[in-house]
Amino acid sequence: MAIIPYNPPTLKVEFVMTSCIFCKIIAGTIPSIPLFEDEQILVIDDVHPAAPVHKLVIPKKHIATLNDLAAEDTLLMGHMLASSAKLAQKLGIAEKGYRVVTNCNAAGGQTVFHIHMHLLGERHFNWPPG
Ligand code: AMP
Ligand code: ZN
Repeated sequence: MAIIPYNPPTLKVEFVMTSCIFCKIIAGTIPSIPLFEDEQILVIDDVHPAAPVHKLVIPKKHIATLNDLAAEDTLLMGHMLASSAKLAQKLGIAEKGYRVVTNCNAAGGQTVFHIHMHLLGERHFNWPPG
């Protein structure tokens, strides 16, 4: 009997790559001007800035929401957070203060379903957030 190859994870990744705006930016099919890039992450300016400094720290791996994190993503999330702090230093906002935010799903205000951290600075942020 013939064995028909079946590889659902590969099919899923191809679907995600063609439908996700951040995957398109990472693949270069949507042009961007990266402020920083390494093997794991890309940092770009937010197209609709909510503060004078508003950067997006985006992992090259497609993960839809915080709810979809796997145990293997722990180091990646730490790298994203540490990179946000390093970037804040480079941008000269570290001492004044800044905010790093990840929104999750509809009630959290997430609109792009590829996880990312917002690095926001150069204005005062209230607590609790609106
Ligand atoms: P969130 O609502 O937390 O999912 O954040 C998504 C962010 O991505 C928003 O602040 C958008 O302004 C931003 N955004 C959407 N499309 C682009 C794009 N092509 N380039 C840069 N930022 C984008
Ligand atoms: Zn994606």
